[in-house]
Amino acid sequence: MIYADNAATTKMSGAAINAMLNCMEETWGNPSSLYGLGQRAKDALEEARERLAACIGASPKEITFTSGGSEADNQAIRSAAALGARKGKRHIVSTAFEHHAVLHALKKLESEGFEVELLPVGKLGTVTAQQVAEAIREDTALVTIMYANNEIGSVLPISQIGAVCRARGVLFHTDAVQAAGHLSIDVNAQSIDLLSLSAHKFHGPKGVGVLYARQGIPLSSLIEGGAQERGKRAGTENVPAIVGMAAALEEACAHMDENTAKVSALRDRLIAGLSQIPYASLNGDPVNRLPGNVSFCFEGVEGESLLLLLDDRGICASSGSACTSGSLDPSHVLLSIGRPHEVAHGSLRLSLCDENTEADVEAILNAVPEIVGYLRGISPLWKDKLSGKREFVL
Ligand SMILES: *Cc1c(COP(=O)(O)O)cnc(C)c1O
Repeated sequence: MIYADNAATTKMSGAAINAMLNCMEETWGNPSSLYGLGQRAKDALEEARERLAACIGASPKEITFTSGGSEADNQAIRSAAALGARKGKRHIVSTAFEHHAVLHALKKLESEGFEVELLPVGKLGTVTAQQVAEAIREDTALVTIMYANNEIGSVLPISQIGAVCRARGVLFHTDAVQAAGHLSIDVNAQSIDLLSLSAHKFHGPKGVGVLYARQGIPLSSLIEGGAQERGKRAGTENVPAIVGMAAALEEACAHMDENTAKVSALRDRLIAGLSQIPYASLNGDPVNRLPGNVSFCFEGVEGESLLLLLDDRGICASSGSACTSGSLDPSHVLLSIGRPHEVAHGSLRLSLCDENTEADVEAILNAVPEIVGYLRGISPLWKDKLSGKREFVL
């Protein structure tokens, strides 16, 4: 099997599995219990908090554990909105191609009287700090812009956007779920006030994540109950998952440079090879791009069929995002960069990690052109294009 869907989820690293097994066997107590077993679990929890904080240049007090990226996004946005509303600020700036965890949270706030402004992301799928500066108003409560896009891989100028927000006194949240472990994060140097992470995107376990909130920013609880996480996130902490997450992020950050060099070389070979296919077009920014992301639109091809035929050859890939596959709507991300509906349906995302090999790339480069050719061969739409009855779009 060739796994090329690391943007959807990753295989757990050995370090994360070992850390979790050890925790489940040795420090399985409730970290809120006062006896030794509980206190050892508490120590493991706090050590993980310190190690995770160190990976992003934060202090441990600024780390809240959540059930993943979606919860962290929701809590960050809810908290900033509540804070803004208390000061009469109800304007929120974001982008058209955020993850649904952000977009749907913003939709809900809109129905509660907030005004949400989604910046256009252009053909390359990015926004400039200038666009953000122009959008900020007196009543702006929050700017929430992702660090890197999960579908098309563009990396956004987060440091510059952070600097603009800081200068204007506006809270800045970034969904760094796709960036963590692949791109360096320093919440102070990058002027980030709120940041979301998800362990299963960097070879940690599923169902656990981090919300970083700069000291002094009050968080609103999404879940009421006990006083865990300084009263900001009730419920007994998932200590094994948290410990596994810390091990995974530390390992990813320690090997970031070598992994980036290796993975981006594989990515570039894939991009060069797939670009040879006629009527194929790369999605996203060719330069400011996640090391492992390859995203294409192929005209005259149904993305779902492409995925199934790749699966027959043991290749795991994705079309649009995992969250939207199964729905017939084309990806909002591909529409946001101006892909017409028809072409947006013919997308393929391959997302690599350091376990992928050159042989994987060769196998993918053998399979995709053949399958695209086959699918076009049986497509009435494609026949119409070839005969001139319909226009080519790409
Ligand atoms: C995966 C992902 C999320 C959601 O994280 P979960 O831990 O699966 O809830 C949010 N944002 C981005 C950019 C993602 O890729």
